[in-house]
Amino acid sequence: MSKPNALSTRTQVAQLCHYIDQVSGAVTPPVHLSTTFARDANHELIGEHIYGRIASPTCDHVEKIAAVLDGGEEAMLFGSGMAAIAAVVETLSTGQHMVAPDVMYYAAQDWFRRISDKRGIGLTLFDATDPDGLKNAIRPGETALVWIETPLNPTWDVIDIAAASELAHEAGAILVSDCTVSPPVTTRALDLGADIVFHSATKYLNGHSDVTAGLLVTHEINELWQDIKTVRAHLGGICGPFEAWLLMRGMRTLFVRFDKASENAFQIARHFEGHPNIERVLYPGLESHPGHAIAKRQMTDGFGGMLSLLTKGDEEDARRVATRTKLFIPATSLGGVESLIEHRASVESPNSTVAKNLLRLSVGIEDAGDLIRDLEQALE
Ligand SMILES: *Cc1c(COP(=O)(O)O)cnc(C)c1O
Repeated sequence: MSKPNALSTRTQVAQLCHYIDQVSGAVTPPVHLSTTFARDANHELIGEHIYGRIASPTCDHVEKIAAVLDGGEEAMLFGSGMAAIAAVVETLSTGQHMVAPDVMYYAAQDWFRRISDKRGIGLTLFDATDPDGLKNAIRPGETALVWIETPLNPTWDVIDIAAASELAHEAGAILVSDCTVSPPVTTRALDLGADIVFHSATKYLNGHSDVTAGLLVTHEINELWQDIKTVRAHLGGICGPFEAWLLMRGMRTLFVRFDKASENAFQIARHFEGHPNIERVLYPGLESHPGHAIAKRQMTDGFGGMLSLLTKGDEEDARRVATRTKLFIPATSLGGVESLIEHRASVESPNSTVAKNLLRLSVGIEDAGDLIRDLEQALE
């Protein structure tokens, strides 16, 4: 006899994205734009909602899908990835300590530095390529939050989530993993020991470069989680219903989009490894990548669509390549159906430590051969 809950996550997500309206028979979910919710004759709420800044039906729906995707107890949807990140660090108190990678998503690290400066929260940045980097950065009993990101922007170095969770928990800290680049299609951070997983839903989860949103999914509902919820409600960090609805529409095709992007990126990475105009290809799927061994274990269904090309020549040469592609759009962001290219150091800031010859590619779902030919002509 098969188990009653034997449906794969793919199927469960497909099911959860649909809905049959009992009045009209409509098969796609509605969008509830209402910001307020009525009470009955006894002054009791008719439904589960009170006011749109606290929670709303369309956001709830997305949160249910996100919780299933990551195998968590509950999810929380925000108006942007950064709003979700800010809500997590808002729960820290003065005197507490946090740890984060020295190379990571630039704006998030910028925010960590700000709260560290303004609020007296200790911040230690660690080198994720040093095997003892994280261990040495954690202060047992004092570190409250270990923030990791994997694969790391824009080197795509891979952090071992299970090992990081052990180190964090031994020290009495919680582990939050930014898995924007390895969505639950391929990495389920909560299964590997993370307490909370974060996604910029602006990227793969939505996948169409038309929604800004962020998601947190928790392993368990606890005091910290309730505190983050309070922060979201009071700071108004929740996603608008229409964006939530668009996100749900995008999530319906998450698996197929991610599969295709991974396949394309792998072909591009293989093609340009050893290319005469390329110094190095950074892609966790390549055996030459330092994170490959962990990636093979941790990214079970594809290495994703993100890769970086280190071009031969100087910064100007690299920047020129990013202006000469015809299919790759010169723009920041990632995880959309269209391929993007950017000279990362110019996008970050004058203080950026990113190699000046690094081009970051977000590979979309176009034909891999066409994408390779486009890069070839731009590199000529
Ligand atoms: C985009 C991104 C974020 C921030 O999310 P927004 O939705 O832009 O606010 C955080 N981490 C990573 C890895 C990202 O790519």
